[in-house]
Parts: sequence; C-alpha cells; structure tokens
Amino acid sequence: MRRPLVLGNWKMNGTKASNAELIEGLKAAAVGVDSVTIGVCPPAVFIAQIQELAGDSNICIGAQDVSVQSSGAYTGEWSADMLTEFGVSYVLVGHSERRTYHNESDELIAKKFKATQDAGLVPVLCIGETLEEREAGKLESVITTQVNAVIDAYGIEAYKNAVIAYEPVWAIGTGVTATSEQAQEAHALIRKLLAEKDAEVAAGIQILYGGSMKPGNAAELMAMEDIDGGLVGGASLVAADFAGIFNAA
Ligand code: 13P
Repeated sequence: MRRPLVLGNWKMNGTKASNAELIEGLKAAAVGVDSVTIGVCPPAVFIAQIQELAGDSNICIGAQDVSVQSSGAYTGEWSADMLTEFGVSYVLVGHSERRTYHNESDELIAKKFKATQDAGLVPVLCIGETLEEREAGKLESVITTQVNAVIDAYGIEAYKNAVIAYEPVWAIGTGVTATSEQAQEAHALIRKLLAEKDAEVAAGIQILYGGSMKPGNAAELMAMEDIDGGLVGGASLVAADFAGIFNAA
C-alpha cells in the first residue's frame, strides 16, 4: 500500500514569528500521527529556522525549488546538495507558478528533478493543465507531455524514488477544487502512463492532489483510489486547517 503524504507549500509566505507559531501548532497536532507522512515546504530563507523548530518531530521539510547546477557562479540559486545540509527530504519541481512566472520548461524541470535525486532527495514533480487546456480537451496530452519529459530524459526508473503532484492550474488558489472524480480521472491517467512503461513503478509512486484542498474536501479526495495525499497551499498556513487535512489522509 502507498503511504499517504501531505505536504504544505507555503509559497512566499511567513515571518520568523509566524513560522514559529505555525510549526509549534503543527508539532502538537502531529503527535501520534504515524500513518501519514507530513511535510512543509517553506521559502528557502527559512529552511534553517524550520529545521531547528521541527527538531526531531515527525514534520519533514521540503524545498520549493532547486538549481540544476551543483555549485558555482549562479547568483540567486541554491543546490540540492545544500538542501541536504538542512534536513530537507523533498523538493518541489515544476510548480505551475515556476512554469508561469519563470518560464520553466519541461526540459529544465526534468533536470531539476534529476539534480534532486542525485543529491539523495525526493523530487515532487508538479504537473497540471490550465482551464483553457482542459476546455480544449487537452488534459491527457498536457499531462502526458509533462510526465514524459522525465522519462524521455532519464528513463522510467527515474520515477522509482519520486512523487508526482497533480495540480490543475485552475484550482490553485482559486477556491475551486477539482471534484474527486475529476482528480481521480487525472491521477488514474498519470498512473496508466507510468504503468505502460513499468507496472511496479506505477503501483508504488505517490500521486498527490493539489488545488484548493481544505479540511472539508480532503477526505473525499484522498479516499479516491489513485490519490495518495495532498500538496496544500493556502490551507497549510493555518495549523488547524493543515492538521484537518493530514488527519483526513
Ligand atoms: P492552494 O491550496 O492555495 O490552492 O495551492 C495549491 C498549490 O499550488 C500547492 O502547491
């Protein structure tokens, strides 16, 4: 069975004071929760603080992005190796906000995925269609292109130690959640794409749903066969809401 995974993507939010309050609340809420992996992805500048605050609790740490390079003259970037020094376990790659605001291509994202794995960390590949693409009947082709970018570059084995997050762009930060049927359809499609190459990899990989996930809809979404957890934005900034989601997993 796939273990549920619930990650909070804080995006560009937080202060040292609010982080401390949030992590204290999460630590308390996560005591005794051992059937789900819980993680937070703070802005990079706060990762050291979060590592200290999380201590030896069951709150894992993720980063929101990473460089494809390992070191050198790349102003403004940080490497996967650097993240390993701060107890980071997961790295989001290809979030739709990176694709949109930073023009990240599938090729670049595949390289970030590989750089993450090479450092011994788990990449969380974020994929999903825009409303325009969905309405034009392009859900399958968009997802196929995004999933295949990694396979084309590094083979299906690359998905052995990885997570995929399906985040329909139209559901991110909009309050509009995909229905559990819409999400399940996309997740099943992703798993089928992988199964065509390697059934074992497809059966083992955790596929998270992201996009306006809240305590009120989390249980129904995560009860679907191919939905193995959540990648939570806004609701991960409030301890009680995020706890409501990981307790529903
Ligand atoms: P929201 O939960 O705020 O819709 O954000 C989802 C997301 O983008 C997580 O990566």
